[in-house]
Amino acid sequence: MTATAPREEQLWSRCAGCASLLYRKRLRRNLDVCPECGEHARLGAPERLRQLVDPGSLRPLADRLPEADPIDFVDVVPYPHRLSAARASTGLVEAVVCATATIGGHPVAMAVMDFRFLGGSLGCAVGELITRTAERALDERIPLVLVTASGGARMQEGALSLMQMATVSQAIAALREAGLLTVSVLTDPTYGGVAASFATNTDLVLAESGARMGFAGPRVIRQVTGRALPEGFQTADFLLRHGQVDMVVQRRSLRGRLVALLAATHAGAPTRPSVPRQEPASHRERLADDAAAATRPPATPEADGTPAVRDAWDTVRMARHPGRPTTLDYLDSVFDGFVELHGDRLGADCPAIVGGVARLAGRHVMVIGHQKGHTTAELVARNFGMASPAGHRKALRLMRLAARLGLPVVTLVDTPGADPGVSAEEHGQAAAIAENILALTVLPTPVLAVITGEGGSGGALALAVADRVLMLENAVYSVISPEGCAAILWPDRSAAPQAARALRLSAPDLRRLGVVDEVVPEPPAAAHDDPAETALRLRAALLANLLPLLDVPPAMLVRLRRQRFRRFGAARAGQRAGVR
Ligand SMILES: [Zn+2]
Repeated sequence: MTATAPREEQLWSRCAGCASLLYRKRLRRNLDVCPECGEHARLGAPERLRQLVDPGSLRPLADRLPEADPIDFVDVVPYPHRLSAARASTGLVEAVVCATATIGGHPVAMAVMDFRFLGGSLGCAVGELITRTAERALDERIPLVLVTASGGARMQEGALSLMQMATVSQAIAALREAGLLTVSVLTDPTYGGVAASFATNTDLVLAESGARMGFAGPRVIRQVTGRALPEGFQTADFLLRHGQVDMVVQRRSLRGRLVALLAATHAGAPTRPSVPRQEPASHRERLADDAAAATRPPATPEADGTPAVRDAWDTVRMARHPGRPTTLDYLDSVFDGFVELHGDRLGADCPAIVGGVARLAGRHVMVIGHQKGHTTAELVARNFGMASPAGHRKALRLMRLAARLGLPVVTLVDTPGADPGVSAEEHGQAAAIAENILALTVLPTPVLAVITGEGGSGGALALAVADRVLMLENAVYSVISPEGCAAILWPDRSAAPQAARALRLSAPDLRRLGVVDEVVPEPPAAAHDDPAETALRLRAALLANLLPLLDVPPAMLVRLRRQRFRRFGAARAGQRAGVR
């Protein structure tokens, strides 16, 4: 297992990226990443395992299967001869090495493909070995980590190879049903039938820096289309931009990233142990913190006859203040250990929505929010927090992942509205928002929403169908912007301040209407004057509202959530007196 092929022990090797001659031992110490140009050399499966798992934890799974040459394939040499040659040159039995191990103390089942063995091709034996590994993960209720490197299905086994795509996928489906995390790590190259099945149908897809992944290879695409391919086509960064992978990770960070993701999803596993397996010592402190936070007086600014009611238009301007903390600011100040997950898996990664796993006072949660920015450049890069259909679909993917893994969802809403552009319409903006609303209605995990800035229309609601809806004191939440409303119902947009007052979009008004459950008070001036204090208050409010939800069975949560939104029906019309 640990032995490397003798030819790898030669003293020097030449970098495929920059052609530097590198001292072999130095290169290996650097995880086979060129110290000169950063090129990630391909790794065999044994070396890959050595880099990823905890020392001494590796338990190889059986790799001997009955010899298979199911269709007596012969090209210039018979298939059995090719197999023997691959075995001799790699020291492996097949193109995948399967094992159980721990990574950062977390038990996992792993299948690591080896491109040196017949191009990492997926044949019956490879499919069987990966399927057995997935079944082992299911038996032991542990996550499955796949590391892919493959040219695709193995031609020498004909259509039976093709069937392996379905066989392995079925095993992945069983893990998803059981709420067990599946992760694939794409390494260079991952193509064809492997790309189109278990490399991409796992919960999380990480791409190692320098990896290329695609269904058809570049040569085929060039032949078919007769066109030159775009710069960086099918590279990890291309995949990230096009929403295909959650993140691109340098080899030296890969193990750390896996540890963080395994930790984040472990605590949320369906049995939902209240004590995270890690760091037992600090648990008591956390409980004390939580209790203190939860007993802080609830935030009800209007209860003690405080601040003279602010004019609605002033509140609108406050909610839009460029200095107001953004979702990424809160992820830094309210939460810990945020690991961002990217992409809708359908073609794009919307920058106006950020999401990923994080901890709230030691509890693992999925956080999803609109991201604006403080400078013009940031705002432009984030499309002013206006999500595209891809953004809504990314949010949906993460919500469903959270539900499968038993993680509560916390959403931070701050958007002028969903992206109103032509491209958004072409890609089904309305349907994307509608799908999120529907999905949240039945999501079997706690959902806590906070309107932190602007809660603009359907784009806001796409993240805010929740068990509890909180709202920062100077945030606004409305069916339309005051300007938009003024343009339609008044002579022109200059009537926006009147429209703002008429729309009842402030936090105290919405609390009286029951749209919002709790108002989170801001520091005396406003959130942007004291972001640190705002973060403390938000954190306390999140904990106080989230903790009780953790004890409610999912079916009950869904029933109560539906009741919560049912009460905005006609029954509400008779209670307008409540607004004063
Ligand atoms: Zn190099």
